[in-house]
Amino acid sequence: MVTRRPNIVIAISIVLASAILAIAVWVLAQMRDDALRRAQDSVFNVSLLVERDVSRNLEIYDLSLRAAIDGLKQPGFRDLPPTIRQMVLFDGSASAKDMGSILVLDANGDIEYDSQAYPPRHFNLADRDYFKVQRDSPNVGLYVSRPFVPKISGTDTSIALSRRISRPDGSFGGVVIGTLRLTYFRRLFAGMNLGAGGSMALMLSDGTMLMRRPYDPKIIGRNLTGTSNYSRFVERPSGDFFGTAAIDNVERWYAFRHIDMYPLILDVALSTRDIYVEWRHRAWIIGSLIAALDIAILALAVLFSQQLRQRRAAEEELRILARTDGLTALNNRRTFEEHAEDEWRRAQRNDWPLSMLLIDVDSFKGFNDLYGHSAGDDALIAVARCIAQNVRRPGDTAARYGGEEFAVLLPDTDAAGAAFIGEKIRTAVQALELRHVASSHHVLTVSIGLACTTGQTFTTSRELVNAADEALYEAKDAGRNQVLSYPVAARAEAGFQSAVPQH
Ligand code: GH3
Ligand code: MG
Ligand code: MG
Repeated sequence: MVTRRPNIVIAISIVLASAILAIAVWVLAQMRDDALRRAQDSVFNVSLLVERDVSRNLEIYDLSLRAAIDGLKQPGFRDLPPTIRQMVLFDGSASAKDMGSILVLDANGDIEYDSQAYPPRHFNLADRDYFKVQRDSPNVGLYVSRPFVPKISGTDTSIALSRRISRPDGSFGGVVIGTLRLTYFRRLFAGMNLGAGGSMALMLSDGTMLMRRPYDPKIIGRNLTGTSNYSRFVERPSGDFFGTAAIDNVERWYAFRHIDMYPLILDVALSTRDIYVEWRHRAWIIGSLIAALDIAILALAVLFSQQLRQRRAAEEELRILARTDGLTALNNRRTFEEHAEDEWRRAQRNDWPLSMLLIDVDSFKGFNDLYGHSAGDDALIAVARCIAQNVRRPGDTAARYGGEEFAVLLPDTDAAGAAFIGEKIRTAVQALELRHVASSHHVLTVSIGLACTTGQTFTTSRELVNAADEALYEAKDAGRNQVLSYPVAARAEAGFQSAVPQH
């Protein structure tokens, strides 16, 4: 029963508290996973949106370049008046906020046609990468240049899309280029919801940074080859991972993708801090509540088990009180009789001897009268101590049987053994030398009646008591301060022999 075992209360509470803790940890882990999943969804969506926008705009711009090349190839194009040529080349061209000029360069890099000026502005662009690449490699197709500051405007860092113009014989005839200001990407990035620590970057496949959010002009054009994030970007067409940016050392969740058909890589990232900020807040609240709950459960269990322990101690004390005599702390008569009954049965069952001593203080009435009731009580305590000191074997029982009478039960002890113990008690009391002038022995003494049963000597335990009582009576009659054994009849005939030599 739980109430009988205080430690079980503690054990149950520990199991309960641990279970609550385990559930909380599990729920928090789930919530953490959910937070990451939401972040993954959100970076994926943002990267998809940006990719769509970029590839659509580049495609439209590329179509304009192709249209210009087709125009140049038209038979009789060179014979048209200059204004019509301008119209043929550029009229259908896309023009949006951040799109710059579409230029046709001749084989020397000089501007031949200019979508934004007629006559064309005079610049030689033969030193630009978009020109050199197209001149040197006929099969590049659409080339996206590194960022540069256009010579024409002198401001607004841009990139250029370029396509080669091949003469009918296949030789290099110049390039068509369209410039695109990087502010296009900057604005596009700024429109996305990424959280305070989020980042986005668009780079050329070779690792050249075109635009990054948060914006920092110093990063534009920097080459990221060799950084751990870039090495992961080039491994696969798209993917995601936890990584730390070389640029700002912030840990983030990255989603990257190579933009379809273009030599561009886009990455979108949410900072780990932003991803888990809400979760961390909730984890603190839930964690504190659970900790408080667990502490309360454990504290209550400790309190409850303490109460149980106290109750058990009180019960035990009551039990002992109910079994002992208040004055002498020996067993009381009721306990003695229970023991006597048990020991009687055991002796019968096993055919063991069972001895009993009845001890009565001699002329105690006189002692009380002479020295007072309180001194009488002290004397009884002293006598009890003498008895207890000589009755020490496990199984032996000493009890206060009544007023100044004591009883001792000695299981598995024959008459000789019992007489020996009785004699020790008698001498011990005498040796106390408690003055008793009214006694013929001058000191306080006891008389002891002894009875022993072996086999079928007596039929009930009561008879054993009566026999000891009879022997006690004989001891009194024979002059007190002595130990006498039952049977009386034999002794009566023999003239009251003491079990041991009389003192
Ligand atoms: P005997 O030698 O024949 O036994 O004489 P006795 O005076 O001892 O015999 P009796 O049985 O007549 O007297 C017992 C006395 O013991 C009566 C009572 O005053 C005293 N007595 C019994 N219980 C207590 C007790 O708890 N305290 C004290 N102080 N005296 C007690
Ligand atoms: Mg008496
Ligand atoms: Mg007496």
